[in-house]
Amino acid sequence: MNEAITQLFDVAIVGYGPTGATLANLLAQCNLSVVVIERNEVMYHLPRAVHFDDETMRIFQTVGVANPLSKKVRINPGMRFVDQKKSVILEWPRPQEIGLQGWHASYRLHQPDLEQLLRAKLSGYPNAVVLNGTEVVNIEQYTKNVKFICRNISDGHEHSLSAKYLVGCDGANSLVRSSIGSDVDDLGFNERWLVVDLLLKRERPDLGDYSIQFCDPVRPMTYCRNPAKRRRWEITLLDGETHEEVTRSNTIWKFLAPWINAEDAELERTAVYTFQSVVANNWLKDRLLIAGDAAHLTPPFMGQGMCAGIRDAANLAWKLALCIKGTANEDILDSYQQERSPHVRTFIEMAIRLGGLINTIDSRTALAQAENNADGTARISSITPPLGVSDLGKLIGGNRSHCGHLFGQPILRDGRRLDDKVGYCPVLILRHPLDKEISPAVPVLDAEEHPDLAIALDSFNTNAILVRPDRYIAGSAISENDIVDMAVNGLPSPI
Ligand SMILES: Cc1cc2nc3c(=O)[nH]c(=O)nc-3n(C[C@H](O)[C@H](O)[C@H](O)COP(=O)(O)OP(=O)(O)OC[C@H]3O[C@@H](n4cnc5c(N)ncnc54)[C@H](O)[C@@H]3O)c2cc1C
Repeated sequence: MNEAITQLFDVAIVGYGPTGATLANLLAQCNLSVVVIERNEVMYHLPRAVHFDDETMRIFQTVGVANPLSKKVRINPGMRFVDQKKSVILEWPRPQEIGLQGWHASYRLHQPDLEQLLRAKLSGYPNAVVLNGTEVVNIEQYTKNVKFICRNISDGHEHSLSAKYLVGCDGANSLVRSSIGSDVDDLGFNERWLVVDLLLKRERPDLGDYSIQFCDPVRPMTYCRNPAKRRRWEITLLDGETHEEVTRSNTIWKFLAPWINAEDAELERTAVYTFQSVVANNWLKDRLLIAGDAAHLTPPFMGQGMCAGIRDAANLAWKLALCIKGTANEDILDSYQQERSPHVRTFIEMAIRLGGLINTIDSRTALAQAENNADGTARISSITPPLGVSDLGKLIGGNRSHCGHLFGQPILRDGRRLDDKVGYCPVLILRHPLDKEISPAVPVLDAEEHPDLAIALDSFNTNAILVRPDRYIAGSAISENDIVDMAVNGLPSPI
């Protein structure tokens, strides 16, 4: 560990998984000084996320990794739930066209590809320091800063660092969550699954491009069609089955025998996980905050656990930047949990319902929200819940209609996507230009110049929308007076 680090960082991040890496990039973009402390010397190597959605890709676009990432992912056609007779009982198709967010609805990925891109991007910021092979072992809060002890994993040497805020992106067993004193709300899902990643030795188009949930009352399983030669099976473990027994290669090939054998594929990696469904009760206390798996755990049936952590990072980074730069009161941080916690809960509850269908324990609840196809099978769609209601309005003022809904990403007249022009900043979208006498406190885009913005305003049936840096709507206005009020009061820029 570098003994010379004595500076007071703006933000310390514990954990360099996808949440910590995304948050660090966004904070560095806001010109804050950031230190990331990560216990592991090298990136996590066991199988985890294989799916993310359009909103998440949009956040990666803001970070600056979406274009290289898009070359490594696969567009996902959807998911099918089949019963023991292999009949489809529920379908979750995903559109193959680019959607309202400016990206495809659903992607398959190899998580290490993403983490490498996020890390490479962060290494380009002179204001970000990463300490790998270093563990945070103690945290103390003071009025104006947080002091924490870091231990070098290889030699045990300890060193103290300080930051104005510390964010725990330190995963399921979060030390920062314990330091906040938060307990967790357990939503009840708790199952052991074996996860097996394979590399195909030859083409196997018969396995299909859809993800398949094999709904089996005894041993439910999942098949995922991952990028390139990678394929995944997730297999429920039964009571009494030990880690040692189920991770033996002959046991794994027995599980997979109905689909594939060692002639067609090699085992790449395996892991046993307990899938859980929890939400922490307190996401912040004074100068300590938590994000990602430290704040919530989602059963993986919707592929949304990591996406939720990425959304946390996008929601939190600009608020921390405004606070640290003094352009907003620190009360703004309260809105982080108020908005994110109900949002992630909606995803967790849907994932639990789908888990009930896969286990055939509670098919009726899972199918209750499905629509019927002409052939009698059921179909579900992706959900886009609004953020939870927050006190943010006190900061912004103006009309709260549509507040907390995600604004789409129209294409501008010059062919650029909206976010590429705006950056990680707020923007006011107007149907008609403002009077020249008015000086707006926020960058403005005029729908008369960009026809797709007018279509977006039409979809909300309004004349002006203030979009936050995380692309959620801060406020909207129809009347001239309200529009002028929103333009003049605006929302400070985090950059
Ligand atoms: C089998 C499986 C499949 C999944 N599939 C999907 C999917 O398809 N889509 C999806 O969106 N999500 C999926 N998820 C969930 C997703 O993988 C996680 O939500 C995500 O990786 C969590 O990221 P994180 O950065 O919050 O935490 P982590 O990735 O757990 O990172 C936490 C980091 O903190 C470090 N750390 C912890 N304590 C300390 C300390 N005291 N000091 C220093 N460092 C510390 C750890 O070493 C670790 O690197 C899946 C999960 C599993 C298990």
